[in-house]
Amino acid sequence: MAKQKRTDTALRTKTCKQMTVMVRDYLTDNLDAKIKLDFEQHLSICPDCVSFLNTYRKTIALTKTVDSNDIPDAVRMNILTFLRKRMRRIGAFVIYVIGHFSA
Ligand SMILES: [Zn+2]
Repeated sequence: MAKQKRTDTALRTKTCKQMTVMVRDYLTDNLDAKIKLDFEQHLSICPDCVSFLNTYRKTIALTKTVDSNDIPDAVRMNILTFLRKRMRRIGAFVIYVIGHFSA
């Protein structure tokens, strides 16, 4: 029982960096139910990640795809430029994620 509780606690202490890696799976509903719950718990305590999620969602809506490989370079550059100008901090996360999935 104690062991189980410790596991739950560990799951609740996801870092923001881990969140950025999982956000695509979250939005495409590919997260394990328990991880999804944990993801949402992190959202409830972390406004930064809520902002990031909203930005990511908007980016997807803008590009009509969740796969950054399908985003034309010109569009991607527009997004990056936009984000750099408007959302310096959150944009850095998106740039990180787009870079992550493009690699
Ligand atoms: Zn966070």
